[in-house]
Amino acid sequence: MILDMFKLDGKIAVVTGGARGIGQSYAIALAEAGADVAVIDVIDCAETVEKVKALGRKSASFTADLGSGKASAEQVIKEVIDVMGGIDILVNNAGIIRREPFVEHSEKNWDDVISINLSASFFLSQVAAAQMIKQGRGGKIINIASMLSFQGGVFVPGYAASKGGIKSLTMLMANELGKHNISCNAIAPGYIATENTRPIRENPERNKAILDRIPAGRWGETTDLMGIVVFLASPASDYMNGFTVAVDGGWLAR
Ligand code: NAD
Repeated sequence: MILDMFKLDGKIAVVTGGARGIGQSYAIALAEAGADVAVIDVIDCAETVEKVKALGRKSASFTADLGSGKASAEQVIKEVIDVMGGIDILVNNAGIIRREPFVEHSEKNWDDVISINLSASFFLSQVAAAQMIKQGRGGKIINIASMLSFQGGVFVPGYAASKGGIKSLTMLMANELGKHNISCNAIAPGYIATENTRPIRENPERNKAILDRIPAGRWGETTDLMGIVVFLASPASDYMNGFTVAVDGGWLAR
């Protein structure tokens, strides 16, 4: 039956940046679909772990600054495998944004954003894919893109470059990993109400300009992304590979 294809029973998922915001909703969605969920973040993940456990799934939190290079990715994925017993689904959600006009944009802002949004997704995917190949039961890697994988935006050069890079990296990963039955796709959320977007929601002009363009007429909620993450993590999407899916209330259609 078709709904059975969305089930994740017995799967082990890893969500980065799962302490709050969109990542927490991804973790809960995967757990509701049946997966055990490891949560990696630089801040405390206790709330998410409790919510996953309340659904009757196994969960554990892992602390890491994922922007600090490949060694931290290797170390934390090793810890996840030791505690959880393997890895079937990786959601590369952890990310930051730094807003500063292009000409003044600091080297630190650029480096910080590229390190966590793009480089960490690459390193974590490398290590997780190696484990998935070793396990021999396929896998799902879900990267997190953005509207700025399709558009340039303003004041966010590192963010735009990182999210454009995520879209390309997702295609490369699909090309190389497809033969191992590992699918790599990306979610491009529209404008979602989280800490990340608080400054522009609190700016009346930016807020109005954004709302005026969204056919749905509202900011997205983190729960609006729960369906797509389960779809991309499940057998229902098995013939989908290398694609970046927008969930944006119609923003890109405008
Ligand atoms: P958020 O700031 O609420 O959550 C991001 C999470 O990532 C936090 O828990 C944070 O602690 C964690 N994180 C940040 N740096 C880290 C690091 N170095 N190591 C480990 N964890 C780290 O933001 P959000 O809005 O939930 O964003 C989640 C993802 O969705 C990001 O990749 C973001 O770019 C993307 N996204 C968000 C929106 C939106 O409108 N909110 C739109 C498009 C894409």
